[in-house]
Amino acid sequence: MASASIFLSHPNPYRNDVVCSSRSRFRSFGFACQSNVFGSKFTSKSISLSTAGTRAGRPEFASSWDSEPISASHPHQTFDVLIIGAGIIGLTIARQFLTGSDLSVAVIDKAVPCSGATGAGQGYIWMAPKTLGSDLWDLALRSQKLWEELAESLSEQGLDPLEQLGWKKTGSLLVGRTPEELEMLKRRVKQQCEAGLRAEYLSATDLRIKEPELMVDKDTGAAFLPDDSQLDARRAVEFIEKGNRLYSSEGRYAEFYNDPVMSLLRSDGSGEVKAIKTSRTILHCKKAIVVAAGCWSGSLMQDLVRESEIVLDVPVKPRKGHLLVLENFNSFQLNHGLMEVGYVDHHTALPNILASGLLDQTLSVSMTATMGAMGNIVLGSSRQFAGFCTEVEETIISRIWERAGEFFPKLREKPLSDFSKSREVRVGLRPYMPDGKPVIGPVPGLANVFLATGHEGEGLTLALGTAEMLADMVLGNAEKINAASFAADGRC
Ligand SMILES: Cc1cc2nc3c(=O)[nH]c(=O)nc-3n(C[C@H](O)[C@H](O)[C@H](O)COP(=O)(O)OP(=O)(O)OC[C@H]3O[C@@H](n4cnc5c(N)ncnc54)[C@H](O)[C@@H]3O)c2cc1C
Repeated sequence: MASASIFLSHPNPYRNDVVCSSRSRFRSFGFACQSNVFGSKFTSKSISLSTAGTRAGRPEFASSWDSEPISASHPHQTFDVLIIGAGIIGLTIARQFLTGSDLSVAVIDKAVPCSGATGAGQGYIWMAPKTLGSDLWDLALRSQKLWEELAESLSEQGLDPLEQLGWKKTGSLLVGRTPEELEMLKRRVKQQCEAGLRAEYLSATDLRIKEPELMVDKDTGAAFLPDDSQLDARRAVEFIEKGNRLYSSEGRYAEFYNDPVMSLLRSDGSGEVKAIKTSRTILHCKKAIVVAAGCWSGSLMQDLVRESEIVLDVPVKPRKGHLLVLENFNSFQLNHGLMEVGYVDHHTALPNILASGLLDQTLSVSMTATMGAMGNIVLGSSRQFAGFCTEVEETIISRIWERAGEFFPKLREKPLSDFSKSREVRVGLRPYMPDGKPVIGPVPGLANVFLATGHEGEGLTLALGTAEMLADMVLGNAEKINAASFAADGRC
């Protein structure tokens, strides 16, 4: 018999009762039940209740892809939507169903939120590196607008978006350092203006004024997008989760953490997937199952359809990235978020290299720099294919540091070892798709199973747009932007 915990908070103006699975714990930030909810501190107590269920009244699973027999002792619970993965994609999809419908939602994760790529994210929500006319353009634009609306709605409620989300409208600078790059930036700015964005090309003189610590010579210039913003991935996740948990007291939201999904269970008659089996329970689904398991989505789907007739290859791969965070950094201030032009190609697809098998030769480091909500400087970033390994590689950290020093000379005044007590290294596995865009849509052959993965280095930016798109598909709402180019058909 499994147990779940209900956490009751007093006083609770936002009804933030929280239902967690029994061993649910949050790794790096204790937002579970003793945390600040919208700025107020609550103390909490927890009680246990049994969740053991019965199979009476539920469909039988004569057709199951589960290799183990389904034991009658498994607890059963039913939700409209089951979401596999509690990264930024899974959690924002849950939020979209909760706020935009009356469906009930469960989020299942093999670990805890932010244990995947999300916890390593730098947090820029930028249009600067996006190319007009690309498949991603409309989704990124829509998503950025939704983030802005969320930040504005917090301000309207008297809440501070910086505190809640780490939200800062810093504007972004895409920095070029060769005549060719500057020409490219001028063309890009012109296109962005024609598309209705506020964008400006900055010559060396203007750039020096905007960002005094940046090394600028006659061949330096930048595209400046004043409306680009940034957030703190961990704060944003914490905020979204707290919002989701407001629905748990109505029985519309539950979390099952540290509980990997093992298999899909199909009903006898329709062949539809009716339930999933996790390591500890069986969760029934009335409407949809969403696989938002980041870079694990490919191997997970392989496991989930192994015993079936379905042929499916979700070609998502882990693309490892390092970030260097220097806490309480006071050598200088950044006025904007910055990224070198090289980043634009650095994050795009590498199908030829993938095909050649020379993945270990794909390490690249490209300068990105942001100032975090707590005055930390965040320097990035690296990209490499190293399987599912998340070990910190000091050589890569040194390369990030050296590259940043080429743009910010003051960084060269001290060795990195001087920051050994105040540095944090973040490593995450970006979910990389060879064609450079996420998969958002139904799994071919499994009408009620949906994929939402493959956001590579843009999952924070694209999260709210992805969540809206996915929920609209499931709910049968008119689409806000064209979803066709993100379909799994022909790509998986
Ligand atoms: C260094 C770095 C910097 C980045 N900077 C930015 C940035 O500035 N802006 C931006 O937009 N994006 C950025 N990104 C990209 C962004 O972080 C990712 O695109 C995004 O986090 C992907 O989210 P996700 O929810 O798809 O995946 P994840 O966050 O990886 O979540 C997937 C979840 O699925 C769970 N899971 C896996 N298998 C199972 C299973 N069998 N059962 C249950 N659960 C399972 C995992 O435990 C995990 O929690 C950055 C990424 C990195 C690595």
